[in-house]
Amino acid sequence: MNLHEYQGKELLSSFGVRIQRGIVAQNADEAVAAAKKLTEDTGTSWHVIKAQVHAGGRGKGGGVKLAKSLDQVKEIAGQIIGMDLVTPQTSAEGKRVHQVLVAEDVYYPGANEPKEYYMSVLLNRGTGRNMIMYSTEGGMDIETVAEETPELIFTEEIDPSTGILAFQARRIAFNLGLSGMAFKEMTKFVTSLYKAYVESDSSLFEINPVLRTSDDKIMAVDAKVSLDDNALYRHKDLAALRDLREESAIEVEAGELGLNYVDLEGNVGCMVNGAGLAMATMDLIKQAGGEPANFLDVGGTADAARVEAAFRIILKDKGVKAILVNIFGGIVRCDRVAQGIVEAYKNMGDAMNVPIIVRLQGTNADIAKELIDNSGLDVMSATEFQEAADKVQAVLA
Ligand code: GDP
Ligand code: MN
Repeated sequence: MNLHEYQGKELLSSFGVRIQRGIVAQNADEAVAAAKKLTEDTGTSWHVIKAQVHAGGRGKGGGVKLAKSLDQVKEIAGQIIGMDLVTPQTSAEGKRVHQVLVAEDVYYPGANEPKEYYMSVLLNRGTGRNMIMYSTEGGMDIETVAEETPELIFTEEIDPSTGILAFQARRIAFNLGLSGMAFKEMTKFVTSLYKAYVESDSSLFEINPVLRTSDDKIMAVDAKVSLDDNALYRHKDLAALRDLREESAIEVEAGELGLNYVDLEGNVGCMVNGAGLAMATMDLIKQAGGEPANFLDVGGTADAARVEAAFRIILKDKGVKAILVNIFGGIVRCDRVAQGIVEAYKNMGDAMNVPIIVRLQGTNADIAKELIDNSGLDVMSATEFQEAADKVQAVLA
């Protein structure tokens, strides 16, 4: 589960990580009130207005703007709220912005030029340890830095039994070229950042940029926080931060039905049992000249009610031109599944408006094929993988 920037910053702040302060607003008037409050609290007279959507690269898409007066706060917030923000990380349609973060301007002039750094905390699956990845090249796309100047990316692995040690925090501050107060601030920053990561059971923190202000403070200007879904049961307060508007409506509904569904862009809907077979089925569809419209693992039970729920979910995607059912009858017998499919199909009536190819293999596959062939329904059956692929190809042609 991902958090909005403002939620991620609140989480960090609760662990003592210094952040660029801000207040979330749902409309232009709230944005002006937020800006006034920030001026009282921080003395800032300029503000940045930041679109709150689950996508990075907002700055490039016009979703982060500096306001130098309350009139500008009102104008910019009014523009950003309600817009469909397109960034390098969204689809071409973009993401609808429902709220903005009004934040203090922290790039004020002073003794030094403000300097941006990159920092993330994540799991190194190779070593089974958390690591802090950081770079002097903040503010830009880290993938580009990794490609063009990999020597400017550093990593620090953390021993889970000790947590981050003082010398490691100092090494990070040193590698970032800091000295004096900024050095001390950075050791405190990474230490509390790491603590926040572990104690919130997060799977990714990405702070880009971490800023050294002109007066040597170190703070998080952006925050991407991904929480580990498997640990959410012990963080009810964080689980409550979920924003369903940011997620695919079909995926949310499928999740409620207990179906493991991922929405994709293609034209062939898939209904499969088992994640591995689902992946293989998606490959098969590609080979047949189609594109999978979704990943759907119905799991161990494939009775009529579940099959019908899965069909209805798949058909909500208007791009679907055919459905391929690919079920292996190991624990569940193929004839039971076939009965479920026939029953679900009949229940759906006119709602079932695309051709269906059913491939059942395993226990009682022959009986299942007979059941489908004799059902009188417009369902094509197959027992071999290739046969199913050929039939998909035929209906798409
Ligand atoms: P992202 O584009 O989605 O990664 O959003 P960020 O929160 O990283 O903001 C994008 C950029 O906006 C930053 O890299 C900064 O250059 C700029 N920015 C953010 N906060 C401020 C601020 O307080 N003042 C100024 N002048 N620029 C800011
Ligand atoms: Mn950023």
